Amino acid sequence: MACYPPSDVCTNESCPNMKPLKKEKPRRVLIYTLANGAQPAWALHTSCPSKKPFDRLMVPSNKLLACNTQYHSNFAVHEGQRTYYPGVPEFIEVGEHQFVEQVVARMWTTNLLLGWFVPFYLNNCLASHRSLVF
Ligand SMILES: [Zn+2]
Repeated sequence: MACYPPSDVCTNESCPNMKPLKKEKPRRVLIYTLANGAQPAWALHTSCPSKKPFDRLMVPSNKLLACNTQYHSNFAVHEGQRTYYPGVPEFIEVGEHQFVEQVVARMWTTNLLLGWFVPFYLNNCLASHRSLVF
């Protein structure tokens, strides 16, 4: 299994780059799935290889900057600003090395909503989480 950015090209509207994005070193992650519990996987991220400067990134020192947008599976980072992609992804990044399948996150949400009348409602989530992990 692998989590990767949704696009192969830079989606920054100001960027002149037309080349495919550069693949960066993948990292090992765990994905919590409904069907198969916790699964080892890879998370891939890419970056814009553009070295061409463009006008909108001119800084006061007259130095031109390249795009260098970093694309992750759930969001992109440009000049230190993280922008999430629209919609809810199939695999939600909940930590540096953890992803949760959307259907599992919805199940946990439902358990919390329906378990409000049970004194130990978190046990519902804990029990379902344990069934995924073990
Ligand atoms: Zn770019």
